[in-house]
Amino acid sequence: MAITRTDIEALASIQPQPWPVISLYVQIAQEHVTDDHYSIRVKNLLKQLSDQPGIALSHEQDAAFREDLERIRLFFRDHGDDYGDAVALFCSSRAGIWHVYSVPRAVGNHAVVDFRPMIAPLVHALDQIEPFCVCLIARDRARIFLGNVSEFREVAVRLDQQVPGQHDQGGWAQARFQRHIDEHARQHFKTIANVLFELFNQEPFRFLVAGGTDEVVAAFVETLHPYLSERYVGHFNCELDASVKEIKEAAWGVVQDWLQRDKARNLDLLLEEALSQDMGVVGLPAVADAIQMGNVLTLVLDDRLSAPGAYCLACGAVQPLDQPPEDEHCVYCQGALRKVANIVPVLYANAYRQSASVLFLTERELQMRLEPHGGIGALLRYRLGAEG
Ligand SMILES: [Zn+2]
Repeated sequence: MAITRTDIEALASIQPQPWPVISLYVQIAQEHVTDDHYSIRVKNLLKQLSDQPGIALSHEQDAAFREDLERIRLFFRDHGDDYGDAVALFCSSRAGIWHVYSVPRAVGNHAVVDFRPMIAPLVHALDQIEPFCVCLIARDRARIFLGNVSEFREVAVRLDQQVPGQHDQGGWAQARFQRHIDEHARQHFKTIANVLFELFNQEPFRFLVAGGTDEVVAAFVETLHPYLSERYVGHFNCELDASVKEIKEAAWGVVQDWLQRDKARNLDLLLEEALSQDMGVVGLPAVADAIQMGNVLTLVLDDRLSAPGAYCLACGAVQPLDQPPEDEHCVYCQGALRKVANIVPVLYANAYRQSASVLFLTERELQMRLEPHGGIGALLRYRLGAEG
């Protein structure tokens, strides 16, 4: 029920349909006492959408759209309480589309009708959706956790029965043990590394975080399978009996630090490539062109960036931003256009559809470095043509 990357990829691959598709994102759990109850939010969102669909619909399409609005209303009446923080729902009964997922609150509240699912809020919240694994490791025991920011659980506790006399001494405090990692401990690390790899094969996770002393973690990390080594993003110090909540918060801090460094690294690379006019472009018009050509490997953008534009309802293409089409038709396929106050979410959703990584800059320092270049840039898959 909780959305996964595979679900998002499946939604992203849905091509524009002949029938309208409703995308609805609703925060369910109340964060503040002043929040409306979610049922009121659902009612308001559906009413706004019903009053102003924002796209032209034929008589048949409009009838299908209104049937789906009613289907969604009934669904929330009967099942709204079954979801956690927030719900994402995609519905086009005539096109055979009906998907409902639990999602993180960060997706916000939106209702849109289009001819394919609106995935931008999911792309934006991807870091909070993709699971991370945490392994608390000591020389004679381990605890393993899996989940994301919204759903996080303990999946295994392992006690190494072969290390004599260490269990009741609080094996976590390294000072009480000899400083070198003995053979027993090494064997235990290998066992745990295998448990993690089996878990990864059953439920793939994007990041691995370790918890423990510097010395133990350093020895443990050496035993990881290469697939897991490349997902390992760092460790934190904590007691082995820490609460699940403490562990989640400490591990999420490690993941966020890694994400910030990754963004900074990609921004450095982007500015270098764009400056040498090689494998990078900056500025909205150039980035929109690169996305339209399917040439974006990594999209880097200021999280606050917003600009008006238009996209095609038939093929999804964002229209050239430096030379907007003169008539109301798509420059690529002559399809009908939709003008929007902010084209940026359409751009990054399209980038995601071509398997680009999308990195949102939220730190002021990084945003300021991209600001002189229009707040957006792309690392390319292949070099631009000779005209450059
Ligand atoms: Zn088009």
